[in-house]
Amino acid sequence: MPGAKRKIGYEHILKQTIREVYDIFSNMGYKIVEGPEIETTWHNFDALNTPEWHPARDMQDTFYIEDNIILRTHTSPVQVRTMLNHKPPLAIISPGRVYRKDEPDATHSPAFNQIEGLYIDKNVTVGHLKATLERFLTMYFGGSRKVLLRPSYFPFVEPGYEVDVDCMFCGGKGCNVCKGTGWIEILGAGLVHPNVLKNVGYDPDEWQGFAFGTGVERIAMLKHGIADMREFYRNDMRFLGL
Ligand SMILES: [Zn+2]
Repeated sequence: MPGAKRKIGYEHILKQTIREVYDIFSNMGYKIVEGPEIETTWHNFDALNTPEWHPARDMQDTFYIEDNIILRTHTSPVQVRTMLNHKPPLAIISPGRVYRKDEPDATHSPAFNQIEGLYIDKNVTVGHLKATLERFLTMYFGGSRKVLLRPSYFPFVEPGYEVDVDCMFCGGKGCNVCKGTGWIEILGAGLVHPNVLKNVGYDPDEWQGFAFGTGVERIAMLKHGIADMREFYRNDMRFLGL
């Protein structure tokens, strides 16, 4: 009698995505670093130039465990922990789960994954940031991608940018996915704010750096044409076997 056939498992698509991103950055000399999901408000907010009055600290957005202990709202506290424990220069990538009080729908989840990078060196400029992101997005989405930096505000960077990539579906002509603009918003980024460098004991006159971050679900949805992010967490074998 033939034995019972066993189904072979698959690497989850989010793990696959994190690995692909890490492979791209490890070729550029980045190391992978992880940190705790339960964080202090100091590591998650204060050290990142997000004072007590900032709207991101509102109870609406953050899961509090105690007054000063929360579920991290982004992976950026890993940057703080790494800088506190290591002397510059630094090049790290940090993936992991983050938590926010969001109602689950096709593009929101109270728990989702981010991946972010931090580069600290001497004489770092926005040019280095743009070239790095162009390389990353070209390697990840294929083709030859263009990057658009739009000025934006994040408390832990100055200047800060929303980063768009030219639409990989229409090549920038305009389609449903890019809502006719030819561009898709994909990352937040900027040069590390001098206050953040001071908070971890780096001299901002000597060291500069850039940081960027994106949603793992977001880039996986774009690459694989997934319309609803809840699919990632449903454990439906028809989806996982894609
Ligand atoms: Zn398009």
